[in-house]
Amino acid sequence: MAGLLEGKRILVAGVTMDSSIGFHTARIAQEQGATVLISNFGRALGITRRIAKRLPVEPPVLELDVTDDEHLAALPDAVREHVDGLDGVVHSIAFGNPETLLGGKFLDGPWPDVAQAVQVSAYSLKSLSVACAPLMSEGGSVVGLTFDATVAWPAYDWMGVAKAGLESTSRYLARDLGPQGIRVNLVSAGPLKTLAAKAIPGFEQLENMWSDRAPLGWDNTDQGPTAKAVCALLSDFFPATTGEIVHVDGGFHAMGA
Ligand code: NAP
Repeated sequence: MAGLLEGKRILVAGVTMDSSIGFHTARIAQEQGATVLISNFGRALGITRRIAKRLPVEPPVLELDVTDDEHLAALPDAVREHVDGLDGVVHSIAFGNPETLLGGKFLDGPWPDVAQAVQVSAYSLKSLSVACAPLMSEGGSVVGLTFDATVAWPAYDWMGVAKAGLESTSRYLARDLGPQGIRVNLVSAGPLKTLAAKAIPGFEQLENMWSDRAPLGWDNTDQGPTAKAVCALLSDFFPATTGEIVHVDGGFHAMGA
């Protein structure tokens, strides 16, 4: 049987470790028949190149800092060195300074750090989508990752505000890229033990209560369910869905207590 993503060309931005949600998205996309490119930035690029060898097929690794206009301008040519266009783009990127913005520092968070968190974690969905749009055609799909920004959480603080911005950005992108036939959706995942999550002081409080309250239970060491949902949204099986947020959280979001 043909895979769900047979013949699709997909860029997964934001792969550092084999715990990264992006890594598992790349893995499942390859298992489902996609040709995958991955990207990361700066110091961690060497780690990403080593980790790439652990995927079923070693993918090209592109350098992309989503706050760097030169990287964004060069992205289409860098992609074309490997594939002649893109059918899917995954935004698996976030950053907020854990020293100043996270873990109970909400009332003191300084603006330059908040601005950086919003630029890297929310605005960059727009930057990445616009950079990739010329490579995409009707049926294309952009998928990002959020952590439910409709409520306030312990420890998440300014990253929660950045995620609210990301969720809104995805809806405006859905509006503006819809006429080109490009869908833009998010997956709202429960807490997962990744580098980004480990950097949030106190995030483990959330991890513990999640598995108790989620009706399906929740394994915070299994990126698979989240990555599968991303791949489903990249596929042709959600052709009329855009501006949507799909929860992959064991059902936690639907429970009142
Ligand atoms: P991760 O492995 O740390 O991935 C985050 C990625 O963002 C890293 O590859 C990081 O690179 C990259 N990044 C940071 N700043 C960047 C920049 N300026 N340009 C390009 N890339 C940049 O953690 P993850 O948990 O898989 O995170 C992926 C996405 O899932 C994020 O949007 C996160 O908020 C979201 N999410 C995570 C959870 C969770 O509990 N883990 C839950 C819901 C949603 P470096 O490692 O080099 O900094």
